[in-house]
Amino acid sequence: MFEVSLQLAGMEKYTNHNKVVRQHLEMERFFTGFTLKGGSETLEIQEQEDPMVIAEKAAELEKIAKQIKKCCKCGLGASRTNAVPGEGNPDARIMFIGEAPGADEDAQGRPFVGRAGQLLDRIIQACGLKRSDVFIGNILKCRPPENRDPRAEEIISCLPYLQRQIEIIEPEVIVALGAHAARTLLNTTKSIGQLRGQFHEYYAGIGRPPIKLMATYHTAYLLRSYTPENRRRVWEDMKKVLAELDMPVPE
Ligand code: URA
Repeated sequence: MFEVSLQLAGMEKYTNHNKVVRQHLEMERFFTGFTLKGGSETLEIQEQEDPMVIAEKAAELEKIAKQIKKCCKCGLGASRTNAVPGEGNPDARIMFIGEAPGADEDAQGRPFVGRAGQLLDRIIQACGLKRSDVFIGNILKCRPPENRDPRAEEIISCLPYLQRQIEIIEPEVIVALGAHAARTLLNTTKSIGQLRGQFHEYYAGIGRPPIKLMATYHTAYLLRSYTPENRRRVWEDMKKVLAELDMPVPE
């Protein structure tokens, strides 16, 4: 089988021609909505980090998840069905951060499992990745009633959980989905239109290097406003993320 050698974070990785073709087809589907038939083989991008380090990261994330599930620091603790700590690769190169769980996420205790989540899955696939390659989380870990906007006091109570998750995972890129995530993580009041499309720096704490942050439209907004222009914008943002990570960028 024809193999293309890739240099990922200083380690030689291999993928094959079929995988590259599939990635291009996934990208096509993202734009056109046609359905791919066949298996769901995707690029393998897992870094071969020391398994002990990954196990320690997983254990730390699990500890935080337990704290989140018991958390009553704000009023949302009383109204939730399930807290949604976030999930994915403890050693992910990319973290996707949304706003807050919706009804489906509250029911299942998992992030991005409703319609907006299905669209996020398609974007991840279009990037040649699997959901399990990345980490998916939210600014708020509990659902605001009627999906109202997060309140300042809720964000203040909840943000330390996400900050700690980011410290543990140490992603190379954070993708902030929508205005609430981008504004919170960048500590700005700028609009998502102003923020998206370029890299910003997430301040990761004293003594830690800043993390590149790409802001893009939330998939819930994209569903409501599913125009070719908006899809192209999200795709352009994701291509910049792939290029930043030296991953193959579909044309
Ligand atoms: N929207 C979000 O911001 N987060 C989820 O987990 C689901 C929908």
